[in-house]
Amino acid sequence: MAICLVCNGMSQIDYICQTCHIRTVDFGKIMDYEDSYKPYEEIEVAKVANGIEYDREEQLCPHYMICPSCSSSFVYQVKEQ
Ligand SMILES: [Zn+2]
Ligand SMILES: [Zn+2]
Repeated sequence: MAICLVCNGMSQIDYICQTCHIRTVDFGKIMDYEDSYKPYEEIEVAKVANGIEYDREEQLCPHYMICPSCSSSFVYQVKEQ
């Protein structure tokens, strides 16, 4: 069974904000917010162009990444392994 190494604490997302050139902070898996955290829908989420299309069969784990400097939010798709 595929697992997300980031969710399991075995890896970290290394995504740099293109504007500030600093490392963004992982705010966790998007699914965790869907039911209980509706305010997050108001954040404009820009899809990170990392060459991976969203596809459930590919077992991707979408994480919210927030830049601590400019507060931009991104979705980073972690490939489960
Ligand atoms: Zn994950
Ligand atoms: Zn930034």
